[in-house]
Amino acid sequence: MVSKNKMFFKQIKVGPMDNFNYILGDSGIAAVIDPAFEEDKLLKIAAENSLSIKIILLTHAHPDHIEGVERLAKETKADIYVHENEKHEVEGMGNVIAFSGEKAIKIGEIEISAIETPGHTPGGVSYIVGKRIFTGDALFIGAIGRTDLPGGDAETLYKTMMKFKSLPDDLEICPGHDYGEKPFAKLKEEKKNNPYLQCSSLKEFMQLIG
Ligand SMILES: [Zn+2]
Repeated sequence: MVSKNKMFFKQIKVGPMDNFNYILGDSGIAAVIDPAFEEDKLLKIAAENSLSIKIILLTHAHPDHIEGVERLAKETKADIYVHENEKHEVEGMGNVIAFSGEKAIKIGEIEISAIETPGHTPGGVSYIVGKRIFTGDALFIGAIGRTDLPGGDAETLYKTMMKFKSLPDDLEICPGHDYGEKPFAKLKEEKKNNPYLQCSSLKEFMQLIG
C-alpha cells in the first residue's frame, strides 16, 4: 500500500521520433517501458536512484520501441515482456516472456496489469500501474496510432478505443510518443477531447481515420 505512493516514476523523451521511455521503480527494482535510442540514459537514471533494471515491458515491437532491448537485456539480464503475437520480433534478445490475455507482473511491491490493446499492431499491450496507463502507440494525447502499417487493423483499434472508454476516468495516459499538446492527460480529458474516443460507431471511426 505505502509503496504505491513512493513508486519511482520518470518519463524520458528519446530519439528522433519523440518516443517516450519510462522507468518505474520500487524496492530497488526497475521496469523500463519500450527502451530505445538512449539506453545509457535509462541505465544512468536507474543507477542514480539505486534501482536495478529487471523488467523490460514492451507495448509493441515496432523498431522505435525495441531498438534498445537487446543491449539493455544483455547488460541487465532483465526479462522481456511482450505479447505472444509479437514475440518473434525480440526472440534471441534475452529472456523473453510472451503472454496473451491479461497478465499480472510485479516490480517490487507494485502490481502491473497488462491488457491487450491491439489495432496499431496485432500484439499491442497497455500496462496499468496504479493510476497510470502506458498505452504505447494505441492511444496518444489527442490522437491514435496508425493502422496502415503491416499488421495494423482499424476495426481492431476501434474495439481497443471501446476498451479505453470503459476504463476509469482518473487513469493518467502515458503515451508512447510526445505527439500531443502535453505529455500526459487524464483519461477523463481524452474521453472529452480525443475525437477517436468519441466515435459511437465503427463507421464513424473509419470515416475519421479516412
Ligand atoms: Zn508503433
